[in-house]
Amino acid sequence: MSNTNQVKVRQRVKIKMGQGEAEFVSFEGLHDNKEHVALIFNRADKRSAPKVRIHSECFTGDIFSSARCDCGQQLNEAVDKFNDESGIILYMRQEGRGIGLYNKLDAYKLQDTGIDTFEANHQLGFGHDERDYKSAGDMLKALAVKSVQLLTNNPKKVRGLEEQGIEVLKHMNTGAFVNPVNLDYLKAKIEKDGHTLAI
Ligand SMILES: [Zn+2]
Repeated sequence: MSNTNQVKVRQRVKIKMGQGEAEFVSFEGLHDNKEHVALIFNRADKRSAPKVRIHSECFTGDIFSSARCDCGQQLNEAVDKFNDESGIILYMRQEGRGIGLYNKLDAYKLQDTGIDTFEANHQLGFGHDERDYKSAGDMLKALAVKSVQLLTNNPKKVRGLEEQGIEVLKHMNTGAFVNPVNLDYLKAKIEKDGHTLAI
């Protein structure tokens, strides 16, 4: 895994969607060889720092509106906001905080015994958070984006981008999408992972 890897845009294609249209961008040379995708909404002024959401893939939440987390609602919020204004979603294929879908389902089963998401991942032999943001930084550089306004509650994403040489001019929280099922999960993210979410 070389740091000198030059990441390049592989393909740009516009896709009309339920809520509007985005340009989907694929890349070559990403260090983890995952199929991360950038969705660019209405980016007319290429000199200004775009609003950016780094969204980690959540099969259960993004596609099936799982009530166990808030991922699907955060993704929809970003799509609606960027479609109305402008912005870039980096859709990162880092399911289950980087442990993958099958392991995430194992972790959910453990959480049904009363432990939280972080304890469950530890019991399965994984770290606190297995994600990394090198690819996110490389994708932005390939898109010639040097500074951003980041839509996130997760200070690790701010630091992760800054470590890749991307300037975070501003950090905006997402909405709070609380339900009786995901309340403990959101509390664990705030108490154990430093998320800046008011619930
Ligand atoms: Zn989720």
